[in-house]
Amino acid sequence: MSEVKEGLFVVFTGAPGCGKGTQARILKERTHICHLSTGEMLRQFAQKDTSLGHELKARLERGEFASDEMIIEMVKSRIAEQDCEHGFILDGFPRTLPQAEVLEDMLSDVGVKLNAVLEIQVPDEIIMERILGRYACMQCGAGYHDKFQKPKVYGVCDVCGGTEFARREDDNRITVQNRLVNYRLLTYPTIPFFEARGLLKTVDGTGTIDAVSRKIEDVLGLAVED
Ligand code: AMP
Repeated sequence: MSEVKEGLFVVFTGAPGCGKGTQARILKERTHICHLSTGEMLRQFAQKDTSLGHELKARLERGEFASDEMIIEMVKSRIAEQDCEHGFILDGFPRTLPQAEVLEDMLSDVGVKLNAVLEIQVPDEIIMERILGRYACMQCGAGYHDKFQKPKVYGVCDVCGGTEFARREDDNRITVQNRLVNYRLLTYPTIPFFEARGLLKTVDGTGTIDAVSRKIEDVLGLAVED
């Protein structure tokens, strides 16, 4: 095994819509570590006009997971890249027990020891409302919500001034229901797995975006005294 790297290496986990992506983007801004979203990587793959791209697109639209083999290979090669040297947030990985079981070896191959697995907890009723209302700027990816986070000027992105927005194709009621079932069946078992290894930290994800990010910084030991 190579020498253990210095840095912040964390996993963000929790049900779909719990705020993993939003909070990972905020933590990235604050710490400049990499944000590795397997969902984002898969959505890019799914746009390709190849048989794998088509199969993946259909799976994502049904709320089904990609295969463990594919995801593991994808993450393995991504974490070995130069920009991951000083830290990363794994957002959406591991999502199954087999993925969790290989994580330790994958990390040790690149000289990384995980600092924490952070579970963001949000009840299902809130999740549905959050997911069905969310959309993003097509130019810069900034996230918005019909009710909780509207742009300051109607139809104009606060961050880049873009005027085109899109919703994720898997953010519809039926797909979200499947994603919640899959979360419970396939992802939830990873929580006791990490708890048994002393890595699990939980955060209540029901407050405002700012309040939740303060709690996360606190739990990760990054909070600064006022
Ligand atoms: P997310 O953007 O994290 O909500 O992920 C979107 C979708 O991509 C999920 O509903 C899954 O179908 C798929 N996905 C993301 N990460 C993984 C993973 N680690 N393993 C399998 N499928 C995944």
